[in-house]
Amino acid sequence: MSQFFERLTAEQKQALAKIPTPYYLLDERAIIDNLIITDKLCQASGAKALLALKCFATWGVFDAMKPYLHGTTSSSLKEVRLGKECFGGETHAYSVAYSEHEIDEVLEYADKIIFNSFNQLARFGKKAAAKNIPVGLRLNPQTSNSSFIIADPARPFSRLGEHDVDAIMAVADSISGVMIHNNCENADFEAFSQSLADIEGRFGKLFHRLEWISFGGGIHFIDPDYPLEKFSNRLKEFSDKYGVQIYLEPGEASVHQGAVLVTSVLDTLHNGKPLAVVDASIEAHMLDLLIYRQSSPLAYVNDTAYDIKGGDFDGVTADETAVRIYGKSCLAGDIFGDYTLNKPLQIGDKVAFGNAAAYTMVKKNWFNGVDMPSIVIIRQSGEVIVQRQFDYDDYKNSLS
Ligand SMILES: *Cc1c(COP(=O)(O)O)cnc(C)c1O
Repeated sequence: MSQFFERLTAEQKQALAKIPTPYYLLDERAIIDNLIITDKLCQASGAKALLALKCFATWGVFDAMKPYLHGTTSSSLKEVRLGKECFGGETHAYSVAYSEHEIDEVLEYADKIIFNSFNQLARFGKKAAAKNIPVGLRLNPQTSNSSFIIADPARPFSRLGEHDVDAIMAVADSISGVMIHNNCENADFEAFSQSLADIEGRFGKLFHRLEWISFGGGIHFIDPDYPLEKFSNRLKEFSDKYGVQIYLEPGEASVHQGAVLVTSVLDTLHNGKPLAVVDASIEAHMLDLLIYRQSSPLAYVNDTAYDIKGGDFDGVTADETAVRIYGKSCLAGDIFGDYTLNKPLQIGDKVAFGNAAAYTMVKKNWFNGVDMPSIVIIRQSGEVIVQRQFDYDDYKNSLS
């Protein structure tokens, strides 16, 4: 995470010092670092990569991302429209359930449409086929690489996709592809490969009849230790064996460490250990920390880079001298994390939390009426721009 800070030039730091906190600070160059790996993987394997908009939809940086990806995938009408309007390339449409009144508009934007269930396929598949839009079905392989039950598509009684091979074979003529999403931040290639082998064992005869297969997101192939060549070979072998185009749908991997949330310390207290309160909130601005009960990685404090990784919700250290940084909402557990710093935090200090691009801006909310962080972008050219600021009217208009 310290890399994010170390890339900032003195000029950029000066420009940033004038911008009021809180703000999400995106660095296009950090995002492109991930996308260069993605592009290399696609070139070597023949796979195509689509940005999963549910993870990241800050369209102000799409121009910088477009050259490296083949398009977007979506989970709703609004996302598929955004993908078509702001990203271009291939626009995949998927939703857990489309409603009758939105399907026509979805089909205006979609290059492919993936239905979640037999019912949805039966209700809307013919409409899509009549418009020559390739139709797919989501498979649920009933196994996954996800360590969180809340994010496990293969959890018991899951609604995410169809699992019955014989029933799926019975509709095989009405689909040209399938989507399988059963990984979550999976950095273990062998686990991916093994679970793919299991899936092939079960669905192989279907795969021979298809033209394309999407493996979804959640594969952490941008990790410096990930065996990219093995992964690429595995994808290539697979697509050769079945004669299919493979798609990947990286969300987190596309924007990993692409942004930080910059905040200011508003107050300090002491209660068994030093405490600090900053002008943002995990519940409102980095909600996944709360959902997954984790603490945030720390990127920098004032002019010092840190590389403190996030840990369990109760803090990365039990150290009594470690400062606990809280958000300013009134939620008692609004905790960014516990951090051992080289000097005590003071009111006015600037504290930035890392990995603030994925599943943050798409989930932000107005809880407690806390100020919505602005969106600040460092362009590829190095220019710092304030893309968007939010005010009282945005808050008010979201409520009535
Ligand atoms: C969430 C999701 C993704 C993106 O997952 P990441 O973990 O962010 O890579 C891709 N495809 C589908 C179907 C998803 O639900």
